Amino acid sequence: MIVVFLGPPGSGKGTQAKKLSQELNLSHISTGDLLREAVKKQTPLGLKAKEYMDRGELVPDSLMIALIEEVMPKEGGFILDGFPRTVPQALVLEDMLNRHGRNLDKVFLFDLSEEVVVERLSGRLTCSQCGAVYHKKYNPPKQEGICDLCGGKLIQREDDKEEVIRKRYRVYAEQTKPLIEFYQERNKLTRLDAEQDIQEVNRKLLEVLKNGG
Ligand code: ADP
Ligand code: AMP
Repeated sequence: MIVVFLGPPGSGKGTQAKKLSQELNLSHISTGDLLREAVKKQTPLGLKAKEYMDRGELVPDSLMIALIEEVMPKEGGFILDGFPRTVPQALVLEDMLNRHGRNLDKVFLFDLSEEVVVERLSGRLTCSQCGAVYHKKYNPPKQEGICDLCGGKLIQREDDKEEVIRKRYRVYAEQTKPLIEFYQERNKLTRLDAEQDIQEVNRKLLEVLKNGG
């Protein structure tokens, strides 16, 4: 099964992808996580990507396409979280899957308002060691400031400051939203109410994937 999670930053894609990938035994490919890892390790990709990420802009398609070609599993199911984010990326993905005789099963659109996005991202806490994600109010760690999973220190991401959050939302609206129509035309799109709580969104995802609706 190959699934794409589409939606604004902060819509819960990563949270749901982590849960669902365990529940359905799928690989989880988060381009945001891969980029942050590259920045941390100061690889050539990380050095080029950092300035765009800090500004809340998209990393150029040429870099993202090279990255996805490198990491896309040749077999087994997977969830793409944060890719594609532009029409050229979606076209390359389609072509890549075709070449491997594979097909995209579903695209979930995580639907929520800009105000909820800002509230979610300004309260997001991320583990500086393992990348696990929490929320101050909606999904707090057991011990303040400490990751439940690895004991690492929880931090606020550089791009989770209100000014950059607003910029990222604008970038989503301008460059990523056209993918809604792109996937609607291909009959792949399922809209999710992403303002519901974490368990409810998870329940809905499982329902659609198991029963088709
Ligand atoms: P994305 O991967 O789309 O950027 P995240 O999964 O990182 O989004 O979620 C953004 C923030 O919102 C995190 O702090 C997360 O804990 C919280 N969150 C995720 N889903 C929900 C939800 N359904 N209700 C409330 N908070 C949520
Ligand atoms: P995310 O963790 O998904 O919010 O992504 C963090 C940042 O990484 C984004 O603001 C972009 O700068 C960059 N990024 C992640 N995925 C992509 C993509 N598919 N295309 C371009 N830039 C991306």
